[in-house]
Amino acid sequence: MQKLRQVYEGKAKKVYATDDPELYIVDYKDDATAFNGLKKGTIVGKGVINNRMSNLLMGLLEKNGVPTHLVRELSERETLVKKVSIVPLEVIVRNIAAGSFSMRYGVAEGVAFEEPVIEFSYKNDALGDPLLNTSHALALKLATPDEIETIKAYALRIDRVLQEFFAGCGVTLVDFKLEFGRDSNGRIILADEISPDTCRLWDSATGEKLDKDRFRRDLGGVEEAYAEIMKRVVEHEAT
Ligand code: ADP
Ligand code: UDP
Repeated sequence: MQKLRQVYEGKAKKVYATDDPELYIVDYKDDATAFNGLKKGTIVGKGVINNRMSNLLMGLLEKNGVPTHLVRELSERETLVKKVSIVPLEVIVRNIAAGSFSMRYGVAEGVAFEEPVIEFSYKNDALGDPLLNTSHALALKLATPDEIETIKAYALRIDRVLQEFFAGCGVTLVDFKLEFGRDSNGRIILADEISPDTCRLWDSATGEKLDKDRFRRDLGGVEEAYAEIMKRVVEHEAT
């Protein structure tokens, strides 16, 4: 499968058209951004880790009944995926208060919820990805009522599968962001990536952050944290 032309360059990945009109190649970069692109940097080796980890987790989700865009890994940084029309919603699932939830609602980081919280942001960089609810998403015609229901059901299933998987790695899944899209048949499938860039992952024993918050918050040991979470995921997957 050959890259024909670049169709998009985002903050973390490049997307290429292929000779199959239904397939794209995504190419993971080491570029890191935070705060809607205001903070920029490089995390050496991140692209390789995110590509591998995202594919491994999407493979696990497929086995658990969640359809994804994954077709096959092509190289260390490249993966063949089903082309989708992205639903412009960032779907955030939270098990523990952190980040913008803690800021917005004045809840200390680390407070666990009894039930997972599902939150939507409008995927729109120019507007700064504003928070919105289902009613807003329907008014803006970002998705149909059926699509929203499907997305919420998949999001909760993904949370259950990933929480269990990460627990086996000695890691607490605090929160994460998902993107869904419509495939060529109009079916909702999981797209984009699941990686330490898009999840908060805390060591279950020590609380140490093993995710992009080390970069966002200048905590140091960024590359080491990505390498550590990758090692744990690969070792656990092999068991
Ligand atoms: P951003 O656009 O936020 O800077 P990335 O650098 O990760 O993010 O760019 C990847 C882009 O590709 C994102 O906009 C994402 O919505 C989109 N995307 C992810 N998976 C697919 C797919 N299977 N088909 C089409 N677009 C996709
Ligand atoms: N997230 C993401 N992309 C975004 C915004 C958030 O991947 O554009 C992830 C983030 O890594 C975290 C979760 O979504 O795992 C919740 O993020 P939050 O809303 O707390 O925002 P932040 O504190 O990152 O601004």
